[in-house]
Amino acid sequence: MAIGGQAGTSSRIENYMGFPTGISGADLVWRGEVQAMKFGTRFAMPCRVSLLERLDDGTFCATLDTGNRVRGRSVVVATGVQYRRLPIARLEVLEGAGIYYAATEIEARYCRGTEAIVIGGGNSAGQAAMFLSRAASRVRLLVRGTSLAASMSNYLSSRLEADPAITIHYQAEVSELHGEDQLDGVTIRNAVTGATETVATRAVFVMVGAAPNTAWLSGLVELDEKGFVLTGPDVHTASPFATSHPGIFAVGDVRAGSVKRVASSVGEGSVVISKVWEYLTASAG
Ligand SMILES: Cc1cc2nc3c(=O)[nH]c(=O)nc-3n(C[C@H](O)[C@H](O)[C@H](O)COP(=O)(O)OP(=O)(O)OC[C@H]3O[C@@H](n4cnc5c(N)ncnc54)[C@H](O)[C@@H]3O)c2cc1C
Repeated sequence: MAIGGQAGTSSRIENYMGFPTGISGADLVWRGEVQAMKFGTRFAMPCRVSLLERLDDGTFCATLDTGNRVRGRSVVVATGVQYRRLPIARLEVLEGAGIYYAATEIEARYCRGTEAIVIGGGNSAGQAAMFLSRAASRVRLLVRGTSLAASMSNYLSSRLEADPAITIHYQAEVSELHGEDQLDGVTIRNAVTGATETVATRAVFVMVGAAPNTAWLSGLVELDEKGFVLTGPDVHTASPFATSHPGIFAVGDVRAGSVKRVASSVGEGSVVISKVWEYLTASAG
């Protein structure tokens, strides 16, 4: 739908080299797009691949949801992940009307002067809570576990704990959403004691991880039990980015065991291309 994937939805990326004061995801992605164009990249958008096949002549054929087909001699899978939903009644009805999956300037405006709820214990949730605390009167961060230590970078959890505008609720979950067409409150439940509390809010941010976009690979490559693409030693290939199918490579968040960060995804993307050239050269000969 848009260039830049998840990074494009990030309000502020502070750990990417070269931007000591941070950069918004939208700005980073725009720069990347211009730079790629300079080197001759052709973009096709919007465009979804629904099926991948290997043809008899050894080439790969990707079928788009428009029915168009694109052929190539090698494929780099970089389709990342998509956000998980939570099993809360009426969640889908209120998506975009109080339930959000990204915290950008636009969503921050919706919670100006009111309480915002962020669900999740990972870095995305932590960053969202920090960012929203500038606009909202208070941010409640609901975490399933008893600590943030295992799931969030230390620098971020320390900042959250020190911020008076942020309250962290451990072992907490949203059990009910209130409001007809627009969210106006939630019930928060303590998973251990069962105690509930109803809070007025117009914005809940669901940031509970993501599932890999790999259905379109149509069984051509081996996946792990969660659907991430296996590469390198897991499938006995020399390149850490080669999949179980010669000619198909995988990089970034979609790859099993990858570090889910902008810098690592960009790095993997640049490193894999030399392997693609090696494959093309060898298969041409
Ligand atoms: C809110 C948020 C904040 C973040 N903040 C940071 C941060 O501060 N620092 C950091 O290092 N990392 C951050 N991350 C993580 C970082 O954005 C990701 O690790 C990185 O974007 C992964 O890049 P990727 O290219 O592997 O996948 P993605 O960014 O997921 O991109 C995959 C792309 O493929 C497209 N796609 C999927 N399926 C198909 C298909 N079938 N056909 C065609 N296209 C398809 C998707 O639409 C998307 O555009 C953040 C993530 C989020 C969500």
